[in-house]
Formats: sequence, C-alpha cells, structure tokens
Amino acid sequence: MSIAFLPPPVGNLYQAALGVRWMRAPLPFALDHVNVWLLEDGERTVVVDTGMDNPANREAWDHLLSSHGGLAAGGRIEVLVTHMHVDHVGMAGALVDRLGAQLHMTEGEYESVRRAVLEASQALPPRARHSFFRAAGWPDAAIAEPSLLQGGYLQSVSPLPHHYSRLRDGDTVMAASTSWEVIAGSGHSPEHACLYSEERRLFISGDQVLPRISSNVSVTFHEPEANPMQGWLDSIAMLRERVADDVLVLPAHHLPFKGLHDRLDQLEAGQHAALDRLRDALSAPLRIVDTFVPLFRRVIDHGVELELATGEAAACLNYLMHRGEAIKERGADGVDRYRLREGSASPLDAG
Ligand SMILES: [Zn+2]
Repeated sequence: MSIAFLPPPVGNLYQAALGVRWMRAPLPFALDHVNVWLLEDGERTVVVDTGMDNPANREAWDHLLSSHGGLAAGGRIEVLVTHMHVDHVGMAGALVDRLGAQLHMTEGEYESVRRAVLEASQALPPRARHSFFRAAGWPDAAIAEPSLLQGGYLQSVSPLPHHYSRLRDGDTVMAASTSWEVIAGSGHSPEHACLYSEERRLFISGDQVLPRISSNVSVTFHEPEANPMQGWLDSIAMLRERVADDVLVLPAHHLPFKGLHDRLDQLEAGQHAALDRLRDALSAPLRIVDTFVPLFRRVIDHGVELELATGEAAACLNYLMHRGEAIKERGADGVDRYRLREGSASPLDAG
C-alpha cells in the first residue's frame, strides 16, 4: 500500500512519525538519494544512516546542523549505521568527529568497512581479484581495469573512529521515547541492522527491505564459495516472523510504505523466478557472464554494472551449488562452467 508521502527537499526535515524526522541525503547516481532517519526525544538524537562523504552531502549536513539548532546545540547526538555501503556509512566518521558522537554498528558491518577501506588504500595484489573475474569469464581488458566499486569506496567514506558501540541482533535501543529491537539481516551485507518499534508500529529497514527495487546480493572475491542468497532468503522468512505486517516501513531508499509482508512475498517470489530462469538456462554449461541475460534479462558487459552483475550471478549459482542442484568445472583456461547436476530436483520442486 502506498501512502501519500512527499520526500523532503535535500537538507530539510520532515516529520515521518512521532519523534522521527526524515532527511534525504543526495547521491550522485541514478538512485539520487538515501533516507536518513533522526530519532529524537528532546535530549538525544540518534541519526540512522548518513549518506556518502562528498561535497553535496557535506553541504546538506552543514545546512541541517546550522538550521535545526536542536540537532547541533543542546542535545546529544549518536550515529547508528545500518550497513557498510557508502551511501549509508559514508558520512558517519565525519559526523562522529564533528559532533563528538558515539557510533553504533553491528560488528559484521563495522569490520567490513575497515577491511574495505584498508584494501582500497593499499594496492591489492592484482591476482587476488583477477582469478575471480577470470573464472567468471570476463575478457582480459575488463580484468585489467581497476575496480570501480573498490576505488569509489575510499573516496566516499570518511574514516571511522577506532571505537564503536556494538549492536547485536535482539538488542534494545532506546530512541524517540520508545524502544527499538535490533534485527540483523544478511545477504545484501554481512550483518545489516534494522530497527523495529513494536509499540510505535515502525520498522526502519535500511536496504534489507526496499519498496521499489530489490537489493543487490553478491558474492565477492574474498569468499568465492559464499552463499549470501541463502542468507537473503532466510532473512525474508525471519522478518516475516519477527516484524508485524501493520508497521510503517521506513526504508533507506524511496518512500515509506505499508504492507511489509506483501513486499517480502514479492521480493521472495521475484528471486525464486530468477533462480528458475537460471535453472532452465543451465541445461547447457554456462560461464557466469552467460547467465546475465537469463537472470537479469539484458546484456551487461562493462563498468560497475558488470561487477555487480557478476557478484549477483555468482550468488545465484552458489545457492544452486549449495543445494546440490548445480556443479561447476574449471577449464584449463581458468574459467568456470556451471550446469545442472543430473538427477537434481526439477525447478518445480526446488522452491
Ligand atoms: Zn546497501
């Protein structure tokens, strides 16, 4: 169910719910914003997600901190980050530094940011990522190019403080005069924090549930055998169990919405439909790059999209391998070819 919400202009605040104000941080992509939620109780503001560290977003925060005195003056400010991606964690370090704020994150996300920053700041031995992309069937020219995802990370994330307050699944966070349960999901990122106020019927979902797009679920070269798709599907089932259907969902992108369980059903059905298209295609051996058309229904052959599509296709293929439905064989050329295992379950009984 969509609700008649209009988003606030960049650098301005709208009231989204009692004690919850809504800001939009600008992003320089087709997806041009991330939602920031300010949980306020008069004495303390918990900022949930921060946007990227870039000049436009620094300006938005300057405007906010100078024109909404309650934020900068008087009350204490704390920063809570849902997950490691640049559009969520980017400004966290800068805000913590500027405001003397405490940072709250799960361990999986905090450590992943530190690793990503470290890797991007050191010249990673090319072989580390090259074999992953060669195995996926990338052409040599694409393999030789520096990773856009990795290069962009360092530029867009201000340094995190060396200490933080750890969030765990099931923890209670007090904010906006109510209690919020931390619910950790996975698949899109290692230990993504969502916040659920049962009392207020509010669910801050980050990227774990989005109203209009499905979040990227990717395997990376660090752990080529990983099965994040299982984590993603398990998280959908877990959220259906733990979060009531009648909440107002406050997502990280696009507009607040109602109908959480319908949206979870849609996301799950969409993923299973993609996996079924993949199963059909795997009647003949395929490289990862050959699965893009069946999976994503279009040609993807360069840039950041190629990197994202490779990670997501690998996540789908690993899911089938972990279920015993598919196998892969590495050729003398270093390229993996995947096919359905003979006698494996048919698409109809594999849901
Ligand atoms: Zn994300």
